[in-house]
Amino acid sequence: MKTRAWGTQAADQQITSFEIDRREVGPLDVQIEILFSGICHSDIHQARGEWGNSKFPMVPGHEIVGRVTAVGAKVKKLVVGDLAGVGCMVDSCRTCAPCTHGDEQFCEKTPAFTYNSTEMDRKTPTFGGYSKQVVVTEHFALKIPAGLDLSGVAPLLCAGITTYSPLRQWNCKKGDRVGVVGLGGLGHMAVKLAAAMGAEVTMLSTSRSKEADATRLGATSFALTSERSTFKTLAGKFDLLIDTVSAAHDMNSYLSLLRPYGAMVVVGVPPKLELHPFSLIGGNRRLAGSSIGGIKETQEMLEFCAEKKIVADVEVIPAEKINVAYERMVKNDVRYRFVIDAATI
Ligand code: NAP
Ligand code: ZN
Ligand code: ZN
Repeated sequence: MKTRAWGTQAADQQITSFEIDRREVGPLDVQIEILFSGICHSDIHQARGEWGNSKFPMVPGHEIVGRVTAVGAKVKKLVVGDLAGVGCMVDSCRTCAPCTHGDEQFCEKTPAFTYNSTEMDRKTPTFGGYSKQVVVTEHFALKIPAGLDLSGVAPLLCAGITTYSPLRQWNCKKGDRVGVVGLGGLGHMAVKLAAAMGAEVTMLSTSRSKEADATRLGATSFALTSERSTFKTLAGKFDLLIDTVSAAHDMNSYLSLLRPYGAMVVVGVPPKLELHPFSLIGGNRRLAGSSIGGIKETQEMLEFCAEKKIVADVEVIPAEKINVAYERMVKNDVRYRFVIDAATI
């Protein structure tokens, strides 16, 4: 099936419109008419070849929400007319230990990521959410709880799960002191989710202009990381730091903000990470990483968001503004997620 999409032909090219092929709906497949597709900073990293693994042509987008328009004969999870979401993965081997434990993102055969990847046949390229239609195996289609604004739901499929998962892994709970580093797409979800889990949240940002927003999103305090004094005032104060920063920054300074045994979880992907051993040794501090989340946990996150009435704060844009949105994100000018209205694709 032919479908319209926006993507790029090379790392130094703009995002433009072209046609792609989607597979016909197989017995276990779900076809989704895309309604909204979020723009993640990972889309920019990959579209611009910043991770060195880019395959072109590329159709980015892994924050997809839409309506089911066809289902295969064996599909049980969804019926035509249901709302459905797709995140960063569209398939995996489903039999290895990580897959059977709900960690499909760590599939030993490597998952089929939603774009810049291949299907499990390792030949057919996958194309992402900046398109009108997507066909995905039912296990990787999420159920979307009723009653949430759909443009704000789309970013939950990556920014939401990527911040929910480490908060759960580190048992974020009432009274914990959590610092969120970087107020962008992931950062604003981390603030909302940690606050909803009962934590006392501090926003650690380079942008003074975002202070009022941080409070509105649920942070109880705000600190400017471009001021050296912040690192003195807040030294040893946090149980947990969630680092969402996409650009180079000094990890050692941020680690000094942890109490003994505290943990900093890196979810942002700066070009490099430079660490002084004493940043970890002093205070038995822990540095960890976290990659998106499995399908079961993503569904759990969606239910949690429905219960707490949490969606992303979005700026809905037509597809022709994707390049402008990329430029604005690189300049930290996003409040707090661009979402493409798929009707304009
Ligand atoms: P984003 O919306 O562009 O936000 C990034 C934020 O980082 C900016 O808004 C800014 O916040 C802060 N920042 C930027 N440059 C900085 C600098 N030089 N020093 C300190 N802070 C800086 O990006 P996003 O979509 O949230 O993605 C963030 C990162 O997470 C990307 O690298 C992306 O690839 C990665 N990611 C990882 C996973 C995973 O599974 N681990 C999943 C999705 C995305 P302030 O203005 O507040 O400083
Ligand atoms: Zn993402
Ligand atoms: Zn597997």
